[in-house]
Amino acid sequence: GSSRKSARECNIQVAVRCRPLNRKEQDENSPSIVECTPQLSKITVKGLKYDSKTFAYDHVFPPETSQVDVYETLVEPLLDEVLTGFNCTVFAYGQTGTGKTHTMEGVRSSDAVTVEDPGLGIIPRALYQLFEKLEQTTNEFSVRVSFLEIYNEELFDLLSPLDQYQKLRLFEDSRSKGSVVIQGLEEVIVHNASEVFGLIQRGTEKRRTSETKMNKASSRSHSVFSVTVHQKESSMTGEELLKTGKLYLVDLAGSENIGRSGAKKDRAREAGNINQSLLTLGRVIQKLVQKEQHIPYRESKLTRLLQDSLGGRTKTSIIATISPAMCNLEETLSTLDYAFHAKNI
Ligand code: ADP
Ligand code: MG
Repeated sequence: GSSRKSARECNIQVAVRCRPLNRKEQDENSPSIVECTPQLSKITVKGLKYDSKTFAYDHVFPPETSQVDVYETLVEPLLDEVLTGFNCTVFAYGQTGTGKTHTMEGVRSSDAVTVEDPGLGIIPRALYQLFEKLEQTTNEFSVRVSFLEIYNEELFDLLSPLDQYQKLRLFEDSRSKGSVVIQGLEEVIVHNASEVFGLIQRGTEKRRTSETKMNKASSRSHSVFSVTVHQKESSMTGEELLKTGKLYLVDLAGSENIGRSGAKKDRAREAGNINQSLLTLGRVIQKLVQKEQHIPYRESKLTRLLQDSLGGRTKTSIIATISPAMCNLEETLSTLDYAFHAKNI
């Protein structure tokens, strides 16, 4: 319809995914207060003191939505852009425990991972489809991936050896305006999608060990998985055309310390728990949506890193994840509000 068209033109798609009630919420008899109307892309939150509240987005995914549906709606269109030579970004935003990692990485139902596995999240699905599409062309190509973590405004490589914890440095790339280079970041060439599972596992393992060794709270870190595709295309006249596209897949820090409309909560401020990257990302997206001239990319590590992949010709999908339970009402409203502000009205 026409609303989809305008959303496409502004290049930012905002979706909300509600997970099922979990065991704990069921045990506590916390009722479901979220009603999804996917046909109208609307979500209604009931159980408020006064009234119910309804929000509209580009897409709404109710609890029974499959991983494939989420992928096909929000990521597949981006992959085509990347293959054409543009950069794109997918974010998962939401309170800890609402399904960000489930959506981005997914669960494995067995050790033998196949593309048919219904648990597969966005990262492995994107890689499967990427190779499928590349192999249909006659182009020469290469695919590189990297995986890093931003914690406390510092960058750490998740693919370097387990005992290496040096901070990575970020530089503006003097050869190409708006892009950055990260000194020393491992970039791994992958030849097929299956190789990516090992890398995700390695990164997850590294995140876990550094959580213990360095006393980090992983819910407060962002993980950024990047896929760079180089293609060499030969034209009819024998000329060679080089195309480079990049896909960033970002599992953001838990949004629980950010209040409604992206303001810092007092509690978080006192605890020094301010997540600069999460706050700045909200501001950057709002300014992009409002088509403002000055975009404050430089105010956080995450937005500096993604500078050439947010705004302009690039496409962005934001997936806000929520719990349906009454006991999470406040955080759910905060997430719905944040996501609503990211939407072009
Ligand atoms: P987050 O990364 O936002 O902290 P997780 O992805 O780790 O949250 O999800 C928390 C738990 O909820 C996990 O056990 C996960 O498997 C489960 N979960 C999340 N989303 C869904 C969903 N859509 N369907 C079924 N289970 C889900
Ligand atoms: Mg997670």
